[in-house]
Amino acid sequence: MDEPRRDSKWWGWGDPAISPKLDAEALATLRERVGELSPSPRAATLEGFELPSPEPLPPALIEAVGAAGIFTSREDRIRHATGRGYVDLARLRSGRLDAAPDAVVLPADAEAVRRVLEICAVEGVAVVPFGGGTSVVGGIEPLRGAHGRLISLDLARLRGVEVDGRSLTARLGAGLRGPEAEAALAERGVTLGHFPQSFEYATIGGFAATRSAGQASSGYGRFDALVSSVRLIAPAGELRTLETPHTAAGPALRELIVGSEGVFGIIPEVTVRVRPAPRVRRYEAWIAASFEAGAEIVRSLAQGPGLPDVIRVSDEEETRVALMLSGPRGLAGALFGGYLGLRRRRDGCLVVIGLEGEEESVARRRALSVRELRRGGAAYLGQAAGRSWEHGRFQGPYLRDTLMGMGALVETLETAHTWAKLGDLHAAVGAAIRDSLAAQGTPGLVSCHLSHAYPDGASLYFTFISRARHGEEAGQWRAVKRAASEAIVATGGTITHHHAVGRDHAPYMAAEVGREGIEVLRAVKRQLDPAGIMNPGKLIPPESTT
Ligand SMILES: Cc1cc2nc3c(=O)[nH]c(=O)nc-3n(C[C@H](O)[C@H](O)[C@H](O)COP(=O)(O)OP(=O)(O)OC[C@H]3O[C@@H](n4cnc5c(N)ncnc54)[C@H](O)[C@@H]3O)c2cc1C
Repeated sequence: MDEPRRDSKWWGWGDPAISPKLDAEALATLRERVGELSPSPRAATLEGFELPSPEPLPPALIEAVGAAGIFTSREDRIRHATGRGYVDLARLRSGRLDAAPDAVVLPADAEAVRRVLEICAVEGVAVVPFGGGTSVVGGIEPLRGAHGRLISLDLARLRGVEVDGRSLTARLGAGLRGPEAEAALAERGVTLGHFPQSFEYATIGGFAATRSAGQASSGYGRFDALVSSVRLIAPAGELRTLETPHTAAGPALRELIVGSEGVFGIIPEVTVRVRPAPRVRRYEAWIAASFEAGAEIVRSLAQGPGLPDVIRVSDEEETRVALMLSGPRGLAGALFGGYLGLRRRRDGCLVVIGLEGEEESVARRRALSVRELRRGGAAYLGQAAGRSWEHGRFQGPYLRDTLMGMGALVETLETAHTWAKLGDLHAAVGAAIRDSLAAQGTPGLVSCHLSHAYPDGASLYFTFISRARHGEEAGQWRAVKRAASEAIVATGGTITHHHAVGRDHAPYMAAEVGREGIEVLRAVKRQLDPAGIMNPGKLIPPESTT
């Protein structure tokens, strides 16, 4: 990997060859729900893109990295200037960005990372760590802080893989994308089991830096739970935790590094727990009478016999949207068959469960899940609908590009709370999004699913679609985001279960960890990054605001 990756759409999500279409029925239903959309074709071309001119890099940095590790083309600067949230894509489609890195720097190894940070600290160059650039919270936004110059430090060249088959651990380089890591692990017969929806393009370092959660987190664990040991290269020095299964040696430094979002330093590699690759994978769908009934089933599983590896419950609206958007031969078709079979139920909530492992373990755990599903009044829809969800689980972001091209605002956000408060959170956040969209004259379709369940609670993941207000997308999005975030905070939920804090959630950190908590984070940053060059404006709110 000598150059920055350029294999995905620079203006959207993923493989340029994948471009799903909506069938006529889906289009009609969408229009009915959100009003007439006026198409907004992408204005931008790479050649015509408006970007601020780059500042020159310090000669010491050029000398240390070498010209072969520094990239300043328009394309590379644009590709490293935004994440992949709705508002990022809206800006990219418009063909104009107010900020971009002055250069993209690809260090060859951890020693080169150390050297780059040392020079940037001396020269006052802001550094934005870049993994796959899939942040949806402004995590890689090129904010300069007090510094005049800014580089994007792309870790794509850090790609080591060392598997310890006896301990079932693997040391993985930060720059490996999800599929690259899984392919290397598969050669040794093991898997990490971390499959976020951004799996195709997000990296190991990014997963660790954001405390990411994959779709199979109930079985395999969130990424932070998979990390056994981690290393951090900070401008002021290095931290490394021991590769032992557990330690009682004081507060866990590992926890301070995991989730640090690049504000303390660079995570060059992570040691993770892996598992034997599953022999059997069984996905199936059920239909629960209501969202509450589905949530109760998940709670009883989480607090009783244990969860399947994947479990998610869509609310009524998300179930309808899944039917609407997946076309007659996909989930919709399979569900339709299921509905006919049920006859007596016309409405309900989709429940997907996935079980992976040895045949005997899958059979035993499935029997326990089925018992709770039936006790909770759910009806079996079959494996076809479950497999359809599994096969389509990375397609959502591609559909977002299609919908944006049609003139829609499409965004997601997530939170979590205890079982006792989950119903209130679902109602409050859903209402906040709906009201904000309606108040702006763009009533929307607001749906949600429950996933990432625990004995004490679960995560809620909202998706909303409405008509975009052309030319005012950022303001429209900001108003909805603020309304939803305030509803989350007022209900006592977390501002993020797995998307991380970045720029967008930093204003809510005081509600999350308190003023003293923020001061602790600031003290750690002062120790590790005294010049304040690491990822300014992310995770820790500016002093003036708290
Ligand atoms: C369509 C879509 C679906 C998504 N689905 C999920 C999901 O299911 N689950 C989930 O958890 N998230 C999801 N995300 C969010 C995102 O993919 C995750 O936050 C992911 O972990 C980011 O990884 P990345 O390599 O792209 O990191 P980047 O976006 O490049 O960076 C994220 C943050 O981490 C910092 N960083 C990156 N690498 C390093 C490093 N090596 N050292 C120090 N700091 C670093 C960056 O500076 C930034 O602050 C989704 C995003 C999109 C666009």
